[in-house]
Amino acid sequence: MDSPDPALDYPAQLRAVDLRVTRPRTAVLEAVHACPHADTETIFATVRGGLPEVSRQTVYDVLHALTAAGLIRRIQPSGSVARYESRVSDNHHHVVCRSCGTIGDVDCAVGEAPCLTAADSADLEGFVLDEAEVIYWGLCPDCSTRQASRSQS
Ligand SMILES: [Zn+2]
Ligand SMILES: [Zn+2]
Repeated sequence: MDSPDPALDYPAQLRAVDLRVTRPRTAVLEAVHACPHADTETIFATVRGGLPEVSRQTVYDVLHALTAAGLIRRIQPSGSVARYESRVSDNHHHVVCRSCGTIGDVDCAVGEAPCLTAADSADLEGFVLDEAEVIYWGLCPDCSTRQASRSQS
């Protein structure tokens, strides 16, 4: 992916949301684009590769600022640490393996939030819904194959 895709112009992305362009900010954006659903440690290690002097606190702060600005999305399935991704505008969902914790993207059939309407609207009086968070839980192909072969022996 070394084509001049405007979506990968990190300084332009930062300017578009009125964030000052700094080296840690572009480096964190780049790291989140490079490793979807990475946790903070992975992002920190990746950023450190190009910016050895960057501190953990700086990476935390930048992740916060980028999430608040909507440039990245933070997801945290229960039992998992926070993870970050750059696919922000398509309301996609996630599938999580109960065994190894692998996370995958699942396209949203509707495409825009909220894609589910709650059944009992009496509980929601006064609420303006803007998102329905869907996580599919199960076993990934590797783990289900491993379980199947274990139960046979
Ligand atoms: Zn698995
Ligand atoms: Zn995702």
